[in-house]
Amino acid sequence: MDIFSHPDFDQHELLAFRDDPSTGLKAIIAVHNSTLGPATGGCRMFPYVNDKDALSDVLRLSRGMTYKSALAGIALGGGKSVIIGNPQQLKTRELMLAMGDFIESQNGNYTSAEDSGTSVSDMAIIAERTAHVTGLSDDPEHGGDPSPTTAYGVYKGIAAAVDFQLGGDLKGVRVALQGIGSVGYYLAKHLREAGAVVFAADVNRRNIDRAVADLGVVELALDKVLNADVDVLAPCAMGGAINDNTINNIKATVVAGAANNQLATVAMGDALLAKEILYAPDYVINAGGIIDVFYQQKGNRSAEVVKTHVDKIGDTLTSIFQRSKEESSATSTIADVIAEEIFKKPVSKVKHSSRAA
Ligand code: NAD
Repeated sequence: MDIFSHPDFDQHELLAFRDDPSTGLKAIIAVHNSTLGPATGGCRMFPYVNDKDALSDVLRLSRGMTYKSALAGIALGGGKSVIIGNPQQLKTRELMLAMGDFIESQNGNYTSAEDSGTSVSDMAIIAERTAHVTGLSDDPEHGGDPSPTTAYGVYKGIAAAVDFQLGGDLKGVRVALQGIGSVGYYLAKHLREAGAVVFAADVNRRNIDRAVADLGVVELALDKVLNADVDVLAPCAMGGAINDNTINNIKATVVAGAANNQLATVAMGDALLAKEILYAPDYVINAGGIIDVFYQQKGNRSAEVVKTHVDKIGDTLTSIFQRSKEESSATSTIADVIAEEIFKKPVSKVKHSSRAA
């Protein structure tokens, strides 16, 4: 498998692999860029079809973290890790301890947190072997889980996008969520409280039933959500929702959701612009979680401090929308340009400690 010429390699600073037959751990750690601070990003556990998919995913996610932290204005670099395997079948305490050893062996170059397929309790096991893990807060309301904060940021982002594209607030605005899991549930709650009509589809029966019962969400069939007749499409499941097969059927005029890597290819950003669909770049709108993790890591997470920081997501998006309009350039391109202006500017490199971000 090619590495340096891999389409997603993008000058990663570090790539590490661990194959531990005694626990079944097969994992990759990727650090894209640590100019702004210690590379921090979640540990995803997923049943990748092959090693190639796992490598592409970790490279794309890790790069995305660099851009996300830069635009969120936090002193963190971009990194991510993936564990290959079905969490329901393969996750054991021993496997998570081995992941902790793997992270520890990187000498603080990568700090982990929870992600799809891993949880706060998994991070607690990892923490038995390394200090380079976050998202462990004992906050009585939310613990270390950043999902509610991510959802709040996405809600603020949707409000900014709706105001820019349609004018006005969220009252009566129709929003369709693909995926109503950890982030989707809290997002739907905010949207409902703001008077929006919320539709959702999810492959997990329990999650959709909970949202219908608790929040008055209207269920959609799985194959109807991306082309639903709504104002806002919010991808909140896995990446790649906007692709060659889906883009021409989107009826929403705003695409704004929590999922990472929503655009299957870079070209999708231009295609959305051409169709006059306003796209809120994923790593800008879903930065609430890493902002939360940043304050957990610094040890001064308070609801007020985090909220004040996350509230800025709406303004950041509005300035991206404005610049996109002025320059007739995709919002995804504009976001990349601004992020690169931040993390590629020459700064003197300092050695960071993961606990002192
Ligand atoms: P989650 O696993 O709790 O929820 C995802 C939901 O999507 C699940 O209910 C799942 O059943 C559903 N789903 C999966 N495939 C689907 C499909 N094809 N159609 C419909 N539903 C489907 O994950 P989450 O923590 O809510 O994260 C959602 C997305 O947001 C992910 O892409 C994640 O990477 C991203 N994200 C999450 C956070 C966070 O703080 N949790 C932060 C930034 C980005």
